[in-house]
Amino acid sequence: MRGSNLRESFLRFFADKGHTIVPSSPLVPYNDPTLLFTNAGMVQFKDVFLGLDRRPYTRAATAQKCVRAGGKHNDLDTVGRTARHHTFFEMLGNFSFGDYFKKEAIEFAWEFLTRVLELPKERLWVTIFKDDEEAFELWQEIADLPPERIVRMGEKDNFWAMGDTGPCGPCSEIIYDRGPEYACASQTCALGVCDCDRWLEIWNLVFMQYNRDADGNLTPLPRPSIDTGMGLERMASILQGVDSNFETDLLWPLITAVEKITGRRYDRGEGGFPFRVIADHARSCTFIIADGVLPGNEGRSYVLRRILRRASRLGMALGLDGPFLYRLVPVVAEIMGEAYPEVVEKEEEIAKIIRQEEERFHSTLHEGMRVLNGILDRAAREGRKIITGQEAFILYDTYGFPLDLTEEIATERGLEVDREGFAQAMETQRERARAAREEGKAYEFAMALASALGETAQSLFTGYERLEEEAKV
Ligand code: ATP
Ligand code: MG
Ligand code: MG
Ligand code: MG
Repeated sequence: MRGSNLRESFLRFFADKGHTIVPSSPLVPYNDPTLLFTNAGMVQFKDVFLGLDRRPYTRAATAQKCVRAGGKHNDLDTVGRTARHHTFFEMLGNFSFGDYFKKEAIEFAWEFLTRVLELPKERLWVTIFKDDEEAFELWQEIADLPPERIVRMGEKDNFWAMGDTGPCGPCSEIIYDRGPEYACASQTCALGVCDCDRWLEIWNLVFMQYNRDADGNLTPLPRPSIDTGMGLERMASILQGVDSNFETDLLWPLITAVEKITGRRYDRGEGGFPFRVIADHARSCTFIIADGVLPGNEGRSYVLRRILRRASRLGMALGLDGPFLYRLVPVVAEIMGEAYPEVVEKEEEIAKIIRQEEERFHSTLHEGMRVLNGILDRAAREGRKIITGQEAFILYDTYGFPLDLTEEIATERGLEVDREGFAQAMETQRERARAAREEGKAYEFAMALASALGETAQSLFTGYERLEEEAKV
């Protein structure tokens, strides 16, 4: 089953169960400066769960574009090292706003997995929140799961909360066992549900049933709700009988395109790392730019710049000496264009932006590499194992080297970067910028008052500051 068929089949299944199909919201969340990128299907429904917004439907289903490359959910460093993590991925979700609850959510999920997708039941395990006896009973009744395949987990893994206060509740996750041949070395792995590629987490069902107040008290919600999320690429890997998301039809054409551009063969092991990261980053850069973000030095723009430059640098590791990432935009458009026409409509513009940023990077790169090599040589001469924060900051500030790039290169030479020192140098520079802004602010404030926009401007300003904090490296 192709990835696009899976997406359709999911939405059709839930439409048949009375769900309204709602389009994916953009990667830049409306109205929420605290969040860098949309990182789950529920983001566009946050206010509906909170009772602040009403919709003409009580059941919805979506295929949502997600990016997890900063803030609370950050998979940037995991990409390419596991078979299942991306910075950009699609989350399939069904939602109930005070309509059905736990029983139906479990019934729907089980029916979709075992009847529609025909996954073998004996491969499926579930996790539940440790005190959720109701879920424990329901899984046995509905799915006929033996109790030993229902694993109890603690608050960290199986109790979901939107924030410190507000709607929250236990969750239950469905895990696919790839089989003992995929087990990791950990002893507990053989016993069930581990963090490695054997136990593939495919679907999270969140049972929103409490409201948490400022003192931490939980009171039952009058209308409990459902929020679920299933990883499209992960499910596709199971259905297509491949070991990794990167070998599904959603990503494989990107890997082969990198093979063609570099003239090198992909290798499933460690050697394939740059291919996987480049394939992943080509998707996230394309989609982030399609939603209106440009590379830059703050917040979302900086996250984009980091992703893009990292791909660029890994291209160099594969022997490329110049822009190439932009050539993958048409491949992304080809794979994703039907479901997300925006990437086709803006294909040329996106490629141009990526190419310009690659060129900008390359033009400072040579100079920056020279400086970095000087720093590394000096450190070696002085017998240091550490690159100072100030040195890393100069590379960042003057030569556009993201911290992780400096770190990657330093690690190759057996050195570490003083991250704290780097953060301090960054903070000092921020202070300076802030002080400069203060001068202009008195005037701005008067203007804001005059146009009766005082409050809006103020909240925009704090939102912006928080965004900067989140993106801090
Ligand atoms: P994991 O533990 O594997 O990192 P998660 O618990 O962080 O996943 P959830 O927040 O529960 O993920 O998201 C719901 C679903 O979205 C997951 O069950 C998974 O199928 C998918 N998913 C989450 N993160 C990623 C990612 N980085 N790349 C691809 N799919 C993902
Ligand atoms: Mg995760
Ligand atoms: Mg998880
Ligand atoms: Mg999860």
